[in-house]
Amino acid sequence: MLHGFTPPHRFLHYLSWPQIARLPDRANTVIVLPVGSIEQHGPHLPCAVDTLIAAGVVGKALERLPASVPAFGMAPICYGKSDEHIHFPGTVTIDGDTLLRTVIDVGESVYRSGFRKLLIVNGHGGQPQVMDMAARELRVRHGDFVIIPHFTWRVPHVAGKFLAAKEKRLAMHAGHAETALIMALAPETVNMQEAVAAYPPEFPSATMSADGRPACAWTARDFGPSGVIGDPLPATREQGLEILDSLADSWVKAITEFHAMQWVVRPDVSWGTSHQSGDIATP
Ligand SMILES: [Zn+2]
Repeated sequence: MLHGFTPPHRFLHYLSWPQIARLPDRANTVIVLPVGSIEQHGPHLPCAVDTLIAAGVVGKALERLPASVPAFGMAPICYGKSDEHIHFPGTVTIDGDTLLRTVIDVGESVYRSGFRKLLIVNGHGGQPQVMDMAARELRVRHGDFVIIPHFTWRVPHVAGKFLAAKEKRLAMHAGHAETALIMALAPETVNMQEAVAAYPPEFPSATMSADGRPACAWTARDFGPSGVIGDPLPATREQGLEILDSLADSWVKAITEFHAMQWVVRPDVSWGTSHQSGDIATP
C-alpha cells in the first residue's frame, strides 16, 4: 500500500478532506515530507536507496512517536537531482529547477491545507542546497510558515561505531553505513555477492570542505566503474537495525521538539502610503 514504512494512522494521504479540515491544531501539527532519489548505488544495492532510507527512517520514527504529538508523514518525493550518477543505468534525475519547483509546490499545498510546520527529511546528499532554497522561498512567501529542510543522516546515530577510519574519511556512496541500513530496511533488495569496495584517492586538503567532503564537483564515475565510493563489505543487518533504531529515536526527538517549538511569526509587511508617496525629505 501507498503508506510504505509509515503506519497508516500517521499517513496524511489516508485522511479525507473533511478529516483534515477537522484536525484540532493544524498550525502545530508537524507534516513530514521525505525526499529521496533514484540513482545507482553500486552493483549490490537497489537504485531506490535514498528514497528507501528517507521514507524508512521517517516511517520508523512516526511509528514510535507518542500519541500526544500530532504529526503526519507524506508520500515521499522519489525522484531527485541525481545528475552525478547519470553515467550508470537506472539513475533517474530531474534538474535542480524542477526539484525546487516541486518542493515549493508541495510546500504550498501543505500551507494551503492549513498546516504551518513542515519538516523536510532529505535522504540524498546531492540536493540539500535545493531543499534550503525551497524552504527559504516558502518562508519568504508566508511569514507564519515554519519549514525545516533537514538531512536524514544529520541527527545523532550510531553508525560511526561500526566504521573504519578510512571509511569515515573517504566513503560517500553505497558504502558501509548505507548498505547496513538497507539490509535492515529492505533486505530482499541487497545482493552482497556483488558488493565491491572502491575508495577515491586522498583528496588534497585545499579541495576539502569544512565537513570533510571534497569541495570540487565530482561525478560517480570519477571514482571507478562500480559506482561505489566506500566499502560495503563489513556491513551486516544487525548493524543496520541498530543504526535504524538510533536514527528513528533521533527523529522522534526532532519531530517532538518541532511540535513544541514556537518560532517567530511575522505578519505580512505593509510599507504603507507614506513610503509610496515618498517621504524622503528634499532640501
Ligand atoms: Zn545514497
